[in-house]
Amino acid sequence: MRIILLGPPGAGKGTQAIKLSQRLGLIHISTGDLLRQNVAKQTELGKEVKDYMNRGALVPDELVAKILMQRINQADTLQGFILDGYPRNLKQAETLENILRQRNINIDLVIDLDSSESVIVQRLTGRLVCKSCGMNFHIKNMPPKTQGVCDRCKGELYQRDDDKEETVRKRLDVYRKETSSLINYYKATGKLHRLSADADPELVLQQIVALAKEIK
Ligand code: AMP
Repeated sequence: MRIILLGPPGAGKGTQAIKLSQRLGLIHISTGDLLRQNVAKQTELGKEVKDYMNRGALVPDELVAKILMQRINQADTLQGFILDGYPRNLKQAETLENILRQRNINIDLVIDLDSSESVIVQRLTGRLVCKSCGMNFHIKNMPPKTQGVCDRCKGELYQRDDDKEETVRKRLDVYRKETSSLINYYKATGKLHRLSADADPELVLQQIVALAKEIK
């Protein structure tokens, strides 16, 4: 099964993708994580994309397409995958279609996680992310049992550079201008389901699992 998670930054795509990948045995592909790994390792690609990311802007399509292809070409994705953070505009949706067509595979389910701006800003400006497994926590709403340490894998927690309020608002702006048009694009395929992401994340997870089981 192949799933796309759409929705603004802070809607919980990453959290849902991590849990869903465990539940459904699918590979989690986050273009944001792949880009951040390149930035951390100071690769040529990492140096090229760092500034876009820190500004909350989209990284050029061809660079993201390159890392996506590299990841999708790995054998483990044959078991199915969840795309988190890709596509982010119509051009990327077309690129994805071409990649899938070449492999004779399809997207089965598109989930639009809908969330309000006030919830997003509150979530992201207090978000803590695990450096090792990517699990998200929140300073107030979901603090880790030990400060600075991931409950799940004991990795170190950090605050993302682009989770400052000013950058969060810029990322939301980019989402509205560039990414939200994908909702109509996927609506036309009949595979899109909209869920409220302001609800309890466990409830959202159950809803996605139920939808995935329906189409299995
Ligand atoms: P995310 O972790 O999905 O919130 O992504 C963090 C940042 O990485 C974004 O604000 C963009 O700068 C960049 N990024 C991630 N995915 C994409 C994509 N599909 N297209 C362009 N830029 C992306």
